[in-house]
Amino acid sequence: MYAYRTLRVEIPWRLVEERPDVLDLVTRMHLAVEEYVRRLLKELTGQEEPKLTPEDLDRLLTPDRQELAVKIIDEVFPKYSLKKYFVDKARVFWRDVAFHRAVPLDAQLRVESEKDVSRAVFVDLKSGVVRVRKTGIPPFAVKLKKSNVTWIKKRLEEGARLKLAFVGIDVRRGKDPTYGGLYIALVFAREVTPVEPRAIVVVDVNRLDHGVVVGLVVDGKIVRRMRLPDECAVKKLRRLHERISDLERRAAKEADPARRGQLEDKVNRLKSKRYRKIRDIATRVAKEIIELARQNNATVVVDAMEEKTYSARKQSGESGDRKHLYDGLGQLRRRLKDLAQWYGLPYMEVRLYSTICPRCGAKMVKDKKRIMRCPSCGFSDTRDNIPLLWAKRRYWEILQKQPAFSAITLLTS
Ligand SMILES: [Zn+2]
Repeated sequence: MYAYRTLRVEIPWRLVEERPDVLDLVTRMHLAVEEYVRRLLKELTGQEEPKLTPEDLDRLLTPDRQELAVKIIDEVFPKYSLKKYFVDKARVFWRDVAFHRAVPLDAQLRVESEKDVSRAVFVDLKSGVVRVRKTGIPPFAVKLKKSNVTWIKKRLEEGARLKLAFVGIDVRRGKDPTYGGLYIALVFAREVTPVEPRAIVVVDVNRLDHGVVVGLVVDGKIVRRMRLPDECAVKKLRRLHERISDLERRAAKEADPARRGQLEDKVNRLKSKRYRKIRDIATRVAKEIIELARQNNATVVVDAMEEKTYSARKQSGESGDRKHLYDGLGQLRRRLKDLAQWYGLPYMEVRLYSTICPRCGAKMVKDKKRIMRCPSCGFSDTRDNIPLLWAKRRYWEILQKQPAFSAITLLTS
């Protein structure tokens, strides 16, 4: 079984300013891919913007669809002046293009002084530079950060190798999509041996500002319990959020267009900062949880909030200002899944109740602040503990369940 991990190397704004052709190329690629995927999925589902999970996509994109995909690529890509290299790549990796919403580029990683075999993306670990070339514009280079180099070296130690690369642009989807920074994504692949689980790590994904409750269950007993991220990170995030709301209110009231513009710029800058902060928190929290699971050979069990609850909450009154916290949770879940797969740890999403009595199954009622009580048997505990108790109750059942490793086989061509 293969697992994949991706390193994002940000393309600095200075380079983007000096090289408008880079931004132009990435934008053209992005638009071409979006149009290709939209048309392909419309042909396959009959719907304009179908909501599909990766599993749905995997089922939908059967090999016999390649001809249709290639036909669309041949029509769409030249419209955006994408050269033969991209058309050829997209034709071969037509499924990956749909999954990743980007065209895979072939890549080489030089660790010592191996020969440069002139692939489109050349990662030179020794000089710490990524070069991108053969894309129809003059080559450009991005310096790797120290943390990038450390990350790559760790993956190499784990037996991974660089498989391919993407060049992309951050897009926040929505009514008016906004475009953010450019990046080079380096995809590493590794062959994994699945771990035989001997414990479970329970993750109760609630809300980032309430913290994520994590429990370690061994032999049917909760042996450790922690709350992530730390109070300080949550406070900082909340303060940042208050500043944004405050500036937004001021901008709305400002009559002078120039000054309003300035305030709005500031809001956007802070929003990007918040986005990055949340991403960092999700990364850190996922890392800590996976560490715990690896040390204990544990199955990672994440509370599966029902999709309905999730989207209802996202769109409800709590949305607006708190929506970003839910976005962070989506990221956290994806990261946990990816990392679990990377280390061969079983990963499962199980519905763990927080309002149903883990002792007798009756509906619990709120007693005091965040304390739940069962009117039927009298059991009571803090709300955060209830999902852990459910996981404990279902311990043996969960441990015996064969987790469905995502059977999606990509990047195989
Ligand atoms: Zn009860």
